[in-house]
Amino acid sequence: MAKVFVITGPSGVGKGTLIKELLQRVPDLELSVSATTRQPREGEVDGRDYHFLSAAQFDRRIDDEDFLEFATYSGNLYGTMRTEVERRLAEGHSVVLEIEVQGARQVRAAMRESVQVFIAPPDPSVLRERLDSRGTDAPHAIDARLEVASQEMAAQDEFAYRVVNDDLEHASDELERIVRAELGLSDG
Ligand code: 5GP
Repeated sequence: MAKVFVITGPSGVGKGTLIKELLQRVPDLELSVSATTRQPREGEVDGRDYHFLSAAQFDRRIDDEDFLEFATYSGNLYGTMRTEVERRLAEGHSVVLEIEVQGARQVRAAMRESVQVFIAPPDPSVLRERLDSRGTDAPHAIDARLEVASQEMAAQDEFAYRVVNDDLEHASDELERIVRAELGLSDG
């Protein structure tokens, strides 16, 4: 049966890279494309990386109850549109949501059967190193993300699964094992 997998964890922990690897390893998994009011980063494409919306467009979608969940993160709105998830489930595909902790809580409340995974850093100091070396955020934005990160780390015990991203290969193996077990698939 198709399932919803919520993958969360602090900014800079490497969720995106782990999810990219997961999608290559497990068949019939699709990533939901979120909506956001954040400005596109260099190289990001509307409709592929995010649906980039103005604040007014986002607010209208909130009023229309288009979102399964939404949250403010570091001054911008981010949300999962119901259509992104429902269409894929209806086609028999499992769906991966890469979202922050407040959104993960909302999905947990709305879909008790969702599978919730927290990705943790081996050590909090690697978050700053990764955000600095990624070079996609200004220094003040990195400070804001790290402040949110410490709150997110405090929430990790709420999650059914926890994967430490100490090493890409090792963490990918663990995430793949969790997802395959939840889907009743044999080991890859
Ligand atoms: P970024 O600006 O780095 O792309 O994303 C910032 C944070 O927002 C990340 O933790 C990311 O996982 C989260 N995020 C992305 N899309 C969504 C969404 O649809 N809903 C929620 N609640 N968080 C999201």
